[in-house]
Amino acid sequence: MIELTGVSKVYPGGVHALRDVSLTIGERELMAIVGPSGSGKSTMLHVLGTLDRPSAGRVTIDGYDISRLSDRQLSALRATRIGFVFQQFHLAPGVSALDNVADGLLYSGTGLGERRRRANVALERVGLGHRIDHEPHELSGGERQRVAIARAVVGEPPVLLADEPTGNLDSSSGAGVMKLLRELHSAGTTVVIITHDREIAATLPRQVHMRDGEIVGDDVPDEAAALGVPLEGARP
Ligand code: ADP
Repeated sequence: MIELTGVSKVYPGGVHALRDVSLTIGERELMAIVGPSGSGKSTMLHVLGTLDRPSAGRVTIDGYDISRLSDRQLSALRATRIGFVFQQFHLAPGVSALDNVADGLLYSGTGLGERRRRANVALERVGLGHRIDHEPHELSGGERQRVAIARAVVGEPPVLLADEPTGNLDSSSGAGVMKLLRELHSAGTTVVIITHDREIAATLPRQVHMRDGEIVGDDVPDEAAALGVPLEGARP
């Protein structure tokens, strides 16, 4: 689904945020990209999500080499293939949950009525069918993240990239969001979760470990983790 080959990213000023990274993410995967702050996780998410182009190396999404696409073609590819969820939710203030989610279909060319109908279905799917008229400030943190997830999946992209999706939530809301991400994976979506939290990562079937811009481990852990059972003592 997504393939990085020998990818490096150097920011102006000479910071090597990614160093010769190769990674293949298949269809219907559920995985963590885990590492300490500054290890290059967010840069990786930007490159995986085609929000940023690499300084060197090749990125292919669904078979398309992104270096061969114009910015416009790349936006279209991204809009149809990849949903994003961020730690800070990034919902529009003063806009209902329904219209925040409907905005996830702005690039699809469908009319407002159809966008709202599909947004309603997506909000039902994340358990917020009773909150469609609420604005972000009338929702809890966990509910806001559910709205953000509904917006990310309303267009039914094959891939969902989530950057510290539980980072701003209490543990109970965070567990609810993780459960929802698992459900989306079970329904067929590839889900990639960026996290610094090794405990969260340990509950996912695959963990890519990053340090100093490099992949230092790519684990498919034991069956218990694959089944989503939190591992006691998973912290170092
Ligand atoms: P993480 O998400 O793991 O905290 P990042 O990908 O945000 O790591 O950062 C990796 C490295 O790249 C860090 O040293 C960071 O300071 C640097 N970096 C990130 N974004 C930029 C930028 N826009 N310009 C310059 N340096 C950056």
